[in-house]
Amino acid sequence: MRLETLAVHAGAEPDAETGALAPPIHLSTTFRHGPAAERIAGYEYQREGNPTQDRLEAALAALEGGAAALAFASGMAAIAGLLEILPPGARVLLPDDCYSGLRNLATQFLPQRGATVAFVDMADLAAVEAACAPATTLLWLETPSNPLLKLADIAAVARIAHAHGAVLACDNTFATPVLQQPLALGADVVMHSTTKYFGGHSDVLGGALVFARRDALFDAALHRRHLAGAVLAPFSAWLTLRGCRSLAARMALHCANARKLAEFLAAQPAVARVNWPGLATHPGHAVATAQMRDYGAMLSIHLRGGREAALAVAGRLRLFLNATSLGGCESLVEHRGSTEGAHPVSPQDLLRLSVGLEHADDLIADWAQALAAA
Ligand SMILES: *Cc1c(COP(=O)(O)O)cnc(C)c1O
Repeated sequence: MRLETLAVHAGAEPDAETGALAPPIHLSTTFRHGPAAERIAGYEYQREGNPTQDRLEAALAALEGGAAALAFASGMAAIAGLLEILPPGARVLLPDDCYSGLRNLATQFLPQRGATVAFVDMADLAAVEAACAPATTLLWLETPSNPLLKLADIAAVARIAHAHGAVLACDNTFATPVLQQPLALGADVVMHSTTKYFGGHSDVLGGALVFARRDALFDAALHRRHLAGAVLAPFSAWLTLRGCRSLAARMALHCANARKLAEFLAAQPAVARVNWPGLATHPGHAVATAQMRDYGAMLSIHLRGGREAALAVAGRLRLFLNATSLGGCESLVEHRGSTEGAHPVSPQDLLRLSVGLEHADDLIADWAQALAAA
């Protein structure tokens, strides 16, 4: 089945009891069992697993082409769910441009557990190869990356990781499986902040890990989630599943709008550079074309006038709301340098855009008026 069809039908079997097409939400924390704890319908306690979550996990695994998925309370809980099962002394290689929460979690908490963290430009395969020289446990990819929209060749990085006995995990939040399927390209685990495009309406937090195989890594992550309890609430699982149904259709419009806006912005004198992999001038354009179905709807721009111009333009936008997060129906703009806490790493002249589902002409008009005074 094609992805669009899976998005609508995976985990969507009509309710066996009532025939309801919209899945029931099972809020029960506990499930009746036999006197010696014999399971009756397969469930025991909500933290271990529940029917609403099972539907979502079936859909996530089907969409990513994985063997199994684990839903978590947030994208960060999913990341922690993987980092915290690494063996003592593990070495983790992270991309030099990545979600700031991952950078902070890894650098602040992994060393306490005896793990080491190093950063490398994942677009530079020779650098990745060299960085793998000390025994490496886990390589983490984020492509396109946040917020610079850097591209990494997933298949090539997977070959390097596996040649060194490392696991390859890939944050697929920006692309979604509609645009890119890292497991098919050799990744071992895909991570999602389902808060973003999967949920799609800026109203539900969640995360997921999708595994290529039901192997020891999957078992460890499942066991740790059960014990640590960073599980997704059933209602959140239900909302995320609802988002799955329209994911492919939304991504098509998100991407079409992003293309029009990126081309408009690239022609504006006040804009020094547009980071969007669909532009032929983007250094990762060829890699994106080879491994993605479309180029996504996240972009970032550098303003010629630096930080001041970036903040002034963000302040003049009307349709693009100043807010963090991404992947919702509404377009958002964010000066990442102002939201990364005490030690921002994003360039100060940079604005990150999440292009929404409004009409492209209205989005372009908003930027035209905001840039007119720049
Ligand atoms: C938002 C985000 C995360 C973290 O997910 P939460 O759901 O906010 O915990 C991780 N990676 C990327 C690329 C993100 O955009």
